Amino acid sequence: MKRTLPKLVIRWYLQNKRDLPWRENKEPYRVWLSEMMLQQTRVQAVIPYYKRFLAELPTIGALAAANEEQLYKLWQGLGYYSRARNLQKAARVIMTEYDGVFPNAYEQILKLPGVGPYTAGAIASICFDAPVPAVDGNVLRVTARIEGLAVDISQPAVKKEIREALLQIYPKSGSGDFTQGLMELGATVCVPGGKPKCGECPVKSICKAFQNGATGEIPLKKPAKTRTHESITVFVLVCNEKFAIRKREEKGLLAGLWEFPNNVGILTSEQAISLASSWDVKPEKIAKKADKKHVFTHIEWHMRFYRIPCGEQSARFIWVDEDALRDTYAIPTAFQMPDFLCDFRKIPHSQTLLFL
Ligand code: SF4
Repeated sequence: MKRTLPKLVIRWYLQNKRDLPWRENKEPYRVWLSEMMLQQTRVQAVIPYYKRFLAELPTIGALAAANEEQLYKLWQGLGYYSRARNLQKAARVIMTEYDGVFPNAYEQILKLPGVGPYTAGAIASICFDAPVPAVDGNVLRVTARIEGLAVDISQPAVKKEIREALLQIYPKSGSGDFTQGLMELGATVCVPGGKPKCGECPVKSICKAFQNGATGEIPLKKPAKTRTHESITVFVLVCNEKFAIRKREEKGLLAGLWEFPNNVGILTSEQAISLASSWDVKPEKIAKKADKKHVFTHIEWHMRFYRIPCGEQSARFIWVDEDALRDTYAIPTAFQMPDFLCDFRKIPHSQTLLFL
């Protein structure tokens, strides 16, 4: 990898970086939170969540002390809730093992719950100017193109090779700007899919893919992942203007979050009423029915919602009003049905949501 790369990238980054809230200062808590939120989620979707989270939990101590409901509520709609749980676990480690001060060595950061080599590299270089790369999909794509590597960048061996090559050229100072410059280049110029904007790229003079007219072939395209399809019926049971909810199991998809009662498979109206009767809620007839598809990374849910007025609040569920649904309980986006139930999403979410 060319030794001139950092200089070209840093100079361009300092002149072209986007104004983002986590770039206001290099306080590790802010940078860490942004990196965790940005995993699997677009920048524009993250911004409102990020601001709200920092306003409510402005310090590592506040995050460590937050209760689960508050934490999940702040994360509601971002998906991948294990990130929120890991953030809090790591905050508690920092409070007990580091007296509340974020550790500054790459190896220490890497040991925090939920922190992998990418996030540790990002924090160490951005906050502490350590010459350590942060190699994510953007950086892999950019560097594979610069080096003219027609390889599958999802392969661990490729990632390792690129990380080691970057390590050799990381600057002694300005590491954070180099890290962010590579990320920014991948996000705004050397974009995935479509055509990279090579004409405005600061590294085109050393980019082999550009020089060889191979930007369309690099990196190699991976075969599309197949998703599992699952069907479920969701019961929106309403009694005296209160909705029945229950907590999901502590393991697996959407672990520990709240949900509306549901059942595997798409039930007919009669089957749904029959099942609801077995829950001792005295269901009346179905008031509303709607279908929805919700797409996770590996699973696609085909959902049928039934809104059913009920005569009794069975003790097998918790019954909460609309305000509590909106403000207190974290209901994953998958279980939300705007225009059918109540629109208790306050801010945009990142997950794909399609209505049939
Ligand atoms: Fe990407 Fe084109 Fe720049 Fe090469 S010249 S890094 S392909 S945008």
